[in-house]
Amino acid sequence: MSLIVQKFGGTSVADAERVMNVARIVTDTYAKGNDVVVVVSAQGDFTDVLVDKQMEINPKASKREQDMLLAAGEQISIALLAMAIEKLGYHATSLLGWQAGFNTSSAHTAARIKSVDPSRIQEAIDRRNIVVVAGFQGVNKRGDITTLGRGGSDTSAVAIAAAMHADLCQIYTDVEGVFTADPRKVENAKKLDEISYDEMLELATLGAQVLNNRSVEMAKKYNIELEVLSSLTQAPGTIVKEKTKMEKMLISGVAKDTEVARISVKGVPNTPGIAFKMFSRLAKKGINVDIILQSIGQHDKKDISFTVAKSHGQAAVDALEDYVISHGASEILLDEDVAKISIVGAGMESHAGVAAKMFEALYEAQINIRMISTSEIKISVLINADDADAAVRAIHRKFFD
Ligand code: ASP
Ligand code: MG
Repeated sequence: MSLIVQKFGGTSVADAERVMNVARIVTDTYAKGNDVVVVVSAQGDFTDVLVDKQMEINPKASKREQDMLLAAGEQISIALLAMAIEKLGYHATSLLGWQAGFNTSSAHTAARIKSVDPSRIQEAIDRRNIVVVAGFQGVNKRGDITTLGRGGSDTSAVAIAAAMHADLCQIYTDVEGVFTADPRKVENAKKLDEISYDEMLELATLGAQVLNNRSVEMAKKYNIELEVLSSLTQAPGTIVKEKTKMEKMLISGVAKDTEVARISVKGVPNTPGIAFKMFSRLAKKGINVDIILQSIGQHDKKDISFTVAKSHGQAAVDALEDYVISHGASEILLDEDVAKISIVGAGMESHAGVAAKMFEALYEAQINIRMISTSEIKISVLINADDADAAVRAIHRKFFD
């Protein structure tokens, strides 16, 4: 007998019909002789509805109260799913995060899981129940409800799989798996049979949006094999694991991130310590910097450009402006109309010419590259936002057609 954790996202439980559909998947798995723990998200976009309700009353509400509100969405879906399972003639027990043993830090709205004590889950399994757990939530040491941050249910599922040494963790969603590019934008995007944790992590942070990146980090740490698949078709999905067989595959995907901004500081003194002082000011404000470019410098001046998350763009300018201007910079510019396009692939490590191929695709599409950065398994370029979709298509065509 195997223990299988199955997670269903909001679209998979959006209405009564979808909830019944999930109940059938879960009970089929159980009827094959497996123990099943199900993790669910709030129905449809109900979490957004709750956020809207907060905004109507108090946009500055304390985070403790935000968690109290947001955690309610998952309480509805676990109860409904348990009822649907009962209707099909099986025993089910729904559990909120605290009942399922999720102990978290006290960082409301962005809590970290400290430990999972699955004894209550195990007890229900021992009574031959299918256990339905509320994703995205836990409890801090004071006994207050916490949430793990938006999209946190994936992480809840992986945490249970790790704590209970599950044989498989299936993440059911509304797409058939992980694709080589966004299938809504790129006609020939192909579903991947397998992808490594490291590649998936790069794609998750780059805006591929199939799996929450904390869940992939946790799966890698505890070596939990994940399967991403569609609750609507149930076709075989994508397996995410440490090592994949697909070594011949040069790249596994092309991703687009439009939530970036570029900041350029012109004409700072070409002396030691300037970069250090600039970037430590940003670090103090908790602003993460991604691609950095420094010009060679002319005379005694140089330019430094870098990218940050779009939501941090203005804060980054504010943090630096006085300092760089008082040190002789001629100007500091914020450009929000940019996009970062990246290719990710473990195969890059052992193949030359991958970057050239990517740049050739952009050249053929007459798209100008404004910044470049590379790592072992990733190459990113910054381009104008208007060119983003065309760039993804051109690069995808070059590598996959
Ligand atoms: N319902 C929560 C959200 O929408 C958690 C999740 O879906 O994973 O962010
Ligand atoms: Mg959701």
